Amino acid sequence: MESHCPNQEDYPMNTQPLIIDGHLDLSMNAMEWNRDLRRPVADIRALEQGMTDKPDRGNSTVAFPEMRAGNVGICIGTLIARYAKPTHPLGGWRSPEQAWGMVQAQLAWYDEMIRQGELTMIRNGVELEDHLSAWNMGETKTIGFLLSLEGADSIVTFDHLERLYERGLRAIGPAHYGPGTYAFGTNSEGSIGDKGRELLKKMDGLGMALDTTHLCDTSFWEAMDCFQGVVWASHSNCRSLVDHNRQFSDDQLKALVERDAVIGMPLDAWMMVPNWVKGEYPPVNPQVTLDQMIDHMDHICQLAGNVNHVAIGTDLDGGFGTEQGPLDVDTIADLQKLTSLLSARGYAEAEITSILSGNWLRKLRQL
Ligand SMILES: [Zn+2]
Repeated sequence: MESHCPNQEDYPMNTQPLIIDGHLDLSMNAMEWNRDLRRPVADIRALEQGMTDKPDRGNSTVAFPEMRAGNVGICIGTLIARYAKPTHPLGGWRSPEQAWGMVQAQLAWYDEMIRQGELTMIRNGVELEDHLSAWNMGETKTIGFLLSLEGADSIVTFDHLERLYERGLRAIGPAHYGPGTYAFGTNSEGSIGDKGRELLKKMDGLGMALDTTHLCDTSFWEAMDCFQGVVWASHSNCRSLVDHNRQFSDDQLKALVERDAVIGMPLDAWMMVPNWVKGEYPPVNPQVTLDQMIDHMDHICQLAGNVNHVAIGTDLDGGFGTEQGPLDVDTIADLQKLTSLLSARGYAEAEITSILSGNWLRKLRQL
């Protein structure tokens, strides 16, 4: 097979500010959407012309070359495999064991990307600082990622959790959509129960971070009470701007700020503006741009009284593409537009640096 391993000639020194994206489903795109992320976005789109098995075919926005072009040198990359009982509204794997199997496939893909020098895994402070300095000096184009699990249903037993920790897992969002094994997620409502409490205790013991995104309100408050360690919300917007249980209320945002959490802002259009109609193309709400992302950031900064708790968590290609994203984002490289947009909204240079990378770095350094 032809090698796509990045080298310095392909990617000259990037003088743009470093961007950290707190939520990308890289391995889901590789293993379930069948996208070779070493290829440019244009190639991936071309290969999907005429395909209809997923709503976002031909509209992808994320690939390694575009991450490098946008100086997205670090991300939180997920493992994601939902177990769904027959009544689950969105469906999923029929057993936790199958979900575990999909997680292994996704891990195997990350391993191979690491072996080829496309990605490097960040598991501790030393690896973070080593990668950060090499990236910022232009010595590497290997993209750093912290491994997180979106929805914990694939953890069959707590022995499986320890095995994932040994493979590099450093953060978990206990729930995804609907009722899960360890917590209730988006569009459902219920307690984390004994299993959820036990999971959070084990995560505390291992020094893992809690990702509160997707937790329903009851599970959110219980998890915040029970968990002692590092907390963030990788991809969540504000309920006061777009009213939906998937978003956080002001009380939840304030509680996250009190725990020094960072909240990554996603670019899924229906979470950015009210009354977005899914599945309509061309979009019936064509006014969605990165400006609405900044509206959500602004709201949290006002609640917090500072810029220390907002960051980027795009969720780009997390089951949607350009058909359901901001008009001014063709690929992930367009995140660099945020610098001038934030500046135009009155943010100082140091504040913009915090939002683009500094706030995530603060949390990653605590692991
Ligand atoms: Zn998600």
